[in-house]
Amino acid sequence: MNGLIMDFQLTIPAMLRRAEQLHFAREIVTRRPDKSYHRYTYADMVERSKRLSLALGNLGIKNGDRVGTFSWNHYQHLEAYFGIPGAGAVLHTLNLRLHPNDLTYIAGHAGDKIVLVDDVLWPLFEKFKDQVPFEHVVVIPTTGKPVPAGTLDYEELLASADPARYEYPDLDERQAAAMCYTSGTTGKPKGVVASHRAIVIHSLANGMADTLAVCERDVAQAVVPMFHANAWGLPFCCTLVGSKQVFPGPHLDPQGLLEQIQEERVTITAGVPTIWLGILQILDKDPKAFDLTSLRAMVVGGSAAPPSMIQGFQERHNLKIVHAWGMTELCPMGTVANLPAGLDGASQKEQYAFRAKQGRPVPMVELRGRNENGIIPWDGQAMGELEVRGPWIAAGYYECPEGAASFTDDGWFRTGDIVAIFPDGCIQLQDRAKDVIKSGGEWISSVQLENALMGHPAVAEAAVIPVEHPKWAERPLAVVVLKQDQQASPEELIEFLTPHFAKWWLPDAVEFASEIPRTSAGKFLKSALRDRYRDYYATNGAAMKERKQPA
Ligand code: AMP
Repeated sequence: MNGLIMDFQLTIPAMLRRAEQLHFAREIVTRRPDKSYHRYTYADMVERSKRLSLALGNLGIKNGDRVGTFSWNHYQHLEAYFGIPGAGAVLHTLNLRLHPNDLTYIAGHAGDKIVLVDDVLWPLFEKFKDQVPFEHVVVIPTTGKPVPAGTLDYEELLASADPARYEYPDLDERQAAAMCYTSGTTGKPKGVVASHRAIVIHSLANGMADTLAVCERDVAQAVVPMFHANAWGLPFCCTLVGSKQVFPGPHLDPQGLLEQIQEERVTITAGVPTIWLGILQILDKDPKAFDLTSLRAMVVGGSAAPPSMIQGFQERHNLKIVHAWGMTELCPMGTVANLPAGLDGASQKEQYAFRAKQGRPVPMVELRGRNENGIIPWDGQAMGELEVRGPWIAAGYYECPEGAASFTDDGWFRTGDIVAIFPDGCIQLQDRAKDVIKSGGEWISSVQLENALMGHPAVAEAAVIPVEHPKWAERPLAVVVLKQDQQASPEELIEFLTPHFAKWWLPDAVEFASEIPRTSAGKFLKSALRDRYRDYYATNGAAMKERKQPA
């Protein structure tokens, strides 16, 4: 017997209709490239999204066609988030920090027919545009200058459509709405294709109190780029619930972000740890420089939030970091480290220890860990590769047969992340499978060592990588960037780690660097460090301190 409930389709146009009916007066604010502000309301946003849908139809876009975006975070990008799926097409966000060769591959592989490009990004776009057979290039004018010859002007395109002629389409919730390629540090980038249904359920989940609790009263600042994992789903979720949205445009420097938080009274902001480390340094120098009392949560994910950073913000500035874990393949939210009720009366130390982990699964995300002995126990000790399943988790990659290796026979997604799982379901990420250090057959977590090193007052950043070793196969090497005008010797740093780790976990050597190379998403690019220090043992072996491995 089936339930007698409507088969209401969970689609992005239904989210837009709600914004039109309920949130029309709420504001959307963008910082333009010249730092001036653009302000309008959801009523304007809905109207312009409808115009975009119609204009794309006039240009020949049909159900299922891909339309790319090459843009910063701003109101026109938000219009594309709704206007492209609202035309039945697939929003394909292109990561502007990638190499032109990767962008050529990604836009070509996805088959983007039309692409929307910020005028200020034209010099980057020019580097690959002729390699991809786009049918039309639409330029979003943000500086008032005329668009390049041979392109369409976004504003003229919108002006050519009559929003009164827009009819909300009846789409199948399973059809593709948004597409995003994974950064692909190994192999070719792979396309993740989210359905309308996945995005709607993910948005509902982001609004839940034990997830990010995004609500109408919020003023949300998405620092995480809209070209990376859909800015963690915030633009969709905020539109569904009617939060005021604040976009930083290209101004992602700590100073610019702090100004925007203060001026717009931002309540929730989200980005990778690098951003917050920069912000913490500014606030530590002058704690009274900004009024940040409006902020209720700074969501941090993408790589591990160092415990010293969580504690530093809380104790020195009364600001709350909410640590979360996710992946492009998860739309991207997977776990959030909100303090469980059971830890209410716990000591500060225990509470911080929990908040530094990656957290418990968002409702409807299921997880398990697996190593060579099978499924690992939830004892906080055993390490294994994290596998997940749920209603917004990829079931495959777009036209990518080799991607099948990322899925188990019984339908779980293999994340490539190595975790320990605690009895309460909280995960602690130990490493990417490819970054974990395998010393004498045992695993050493580079993430834990990095987190601890970044707790040293002289350390700005630290990455720990494996170097080849004739006896143990791999041993850890720490690459450390010191804060300006600060000093620390390798011995002092190792001594600092000693109380917290088994002896054989301690790095055999510490190298100092002026910076840690980064990926397009602002994460440590460990493969570049591994290449740089590939022959480290051969040249420095004699000087490396050998630490005893357990029997
Ligand atoms: P992406 O698909 O580019 O967002 O990258 C996803 C990967 O980022 C995950 O598989 C993790 O390796 C890493 N990651 C995301 N969130 C965290 C976190 N809170 N702590 C540690 N690593 C993270």
